[in-house]
Amino acid sequence: MKATFIGHSAIKLEGAHIVYIDPFLTGNPLATTSVDQIDKADYVIVTHDHDDHKGDAFDICNKTGATLVGVHEVSVDAGKEGLKSEGMNIGGTLSLENINIHMVNAQHSTANGHQAGVVIEMDGATVYHPGDTGLFGDMKIIGEFFDIDLAFLPIGDRYTMGIRSAAKAVEYLKPKKVVPMHYNTFPIIMADPQEFKSKVGALAEVVILNPGESVSA
Ligand code: ZN
Repeated sequence: MKATFIGHSAIKLEGAHIVYIDPFLTGNPLATTSVDQIDKADYVIVTHDHDDHKGDAFDICNKTGATLVGVHEVSVDAGKEGLKSEGMNIGGTLSLENINIHMVNAQHSTANGHQAGVVIEMDGATVYHPGDTGLFGDMKIIGEFFDIDLAFLPIGDRYTMGIRSAAKAVEYLKPKKVVPMHYNTFPIIMADPQEFKSKVGALAEVVILNPGESVSA
């Protein structure tokens, strides 16, 4: 599976399916693609209903015919706009052909529904995207329950984990590879990914991606 960092928390997974997670493109100064450039998508996953995560999700579904996957309330909103949608909630698994999407806890806020993280199994690889979250102890359970090949973790602080707490999350989650995200998009979430890399040390391979760059899982 190929995972591309689009900037902020927006990720594209390419394998059995083309999956976008939290595709905040319009208004994202780091974004390396736009809805105009996206012709194909199978699933668009939204971790929570904040503008910098839900972003262009509905527009991408509308343009490509992709299915919106999100917490129940967000999927209902997508359905009202005539989009294909699959709702789920914390603790649940959505098993579709050649992809499993697990919705896991996240500690954050949202005005509509709930905030969540997702664990995606596709092409024999397991990817964790926590959305926005602080460090929480149940990340140990996520790390025990899933054999995570690749984790994306926010390091920008203020609204999410910062470098120190994200490094602790790596200890809990035990991913093979980790990619920092949700930093340097705006002046209030500036962080140095090299500092994160040195704090993680030998716990995992830290892969620092510039927007538009990819890693395999
Ligand atoms: Zn948020």
